[in-house]
Amino acid sequence: MTKYYKGYYMITARCNLSCSYCILENAPHQLKQELSLTQKKELISHLYHNLNFRSLTISGGEALIIGKSVPSDFLQLLNFLKQFKFDDTQKNLKIKLYTNGIYLTESVAVAMNGIIDEVSINIDSSDDETLLLIGRNKSKQDKYFLKVIGAIKLLFNQGIKVKLHTVISALNYQNIASEVRSIYNEVKNANSAFCQWKFYQYMSYDEIIVDEKHKIDIEVFESVKREIENNLKGLDVDIHFKNNQEMNQSLFNILATGIAQYRLPENTWTTTPRTENLLNYKSMEALFERNKIDVDLFNTYHSYKLIDATN
Ligand code: SF4
Repeated sequence: MTKYYKGYYMITARCNLSCSYCILENAPHQLKQELSLTQKKELISHLYHNLNFRSLTISGGEALIIGKSVPSDFLQLLNFLKQFKFDDTQKNLKIKLYTNGIYLTESVAVAMNGIIDEVSINIDSSDDETLLLIGRNKSKQDKYFLKVIGAIKLLFNQGIKVKLHTVISALNYQNIASEVRSIYNEVKNANSAFCQWKFYQYMSYDEIIVDEKHKIDIEVFESVKREIENNLKGLDVDIHFKNNQEMNQSLFNILATGIAQYRLPENTWTTTPRTENLLNYKSMEALFERNKIDVDLFNTYHSYKLIDATN
C-alpha cells in the first residue's frame, strides 16, 4: 500500500519580526541561500510526485516575504500550488500556512481562497508589554495582537480555518493561563471556524543567553498546561501541548535551502544532522536509509492518513 507523508517546509529563513526566542534573522545572506521561486516549485513537485507528500505546512521565517518583492513571489507560489488541489483525497495536497500575519492583507487572503486549507498564527499573549518583550510588538506603539485579530477576520471572510500557536516561555508563563479565555473569545469572534490551539514548550537552540531568558522546566510547562486546560474547559477548541520531548522526536524540517534537518536521539539542536538536497532522493525509503532515520518514529509524526481530516 502506498504510504503518504506530511511535512513542514520552512520556505525562507527570513522574517519581518525578530522574536526574542527565535534564531532566524532577516539577513541578506539568507536571501542568497534561499531557493529561487523556480527551485521552490521544483522541490514542492518532487515532494508531491516522488516522495508522496499529501500535506505540507509552509512556514518560515515568514512565508509571505519570500523573494525580493513582497508579496509577489508568494502570490506566484499560490498560483503554482493550485495544480495540487483535487477533490480526490488521494491526489489532493493539503496546504497549510504558518505566518505571523503582518503581511496578510485582504488581497493576499483572497488569493489564498481554495488553495490554503488552514492558517496557523502565533499569539503568545494579548498584553502589549509582554508582546514587546517577546518582540512581536516592535515598539511601544505597535499592536501585534490587534493586527493578528484583523488578519484572522480576513481569513474568515475567505472561509479559511485558523489555528493558534503559543510558545510558553519564561516571558509569558505566569500570565498566559489567565489570558487564554479572552484570547479564545477574540479569535472566535473574528473567525468562528477557529477550533485548534497548540501550546509549545520553549525549545533551546543551544544559545545560553537566549535560554537564560526563556527556558522553563517541564514541571512549569505541565503546571501551566493544567491551568490552561482548566480555563478552556467546555470551549469548542482542541488543545494540544507539545513539550520538548515531542518536539525533538518529531523534528524533520525541510529548510529554505532544500535540505532537511532531523534529529537522532544523541543530538542537541546544534548537532542535528542534515540530509542532502531532497531532490537527490528518489523515494522516502532512500532518504530513510541514507540518513539512518528511525522509520517507525518518523511515521508516528509524519505519516499522512488520507481519510484523517485532522492531519
Ligand atoms: S515571527 Fe516566527 S520566524 Fe519570525 S522571528 Fe518570530 S518566531 Fe521567528
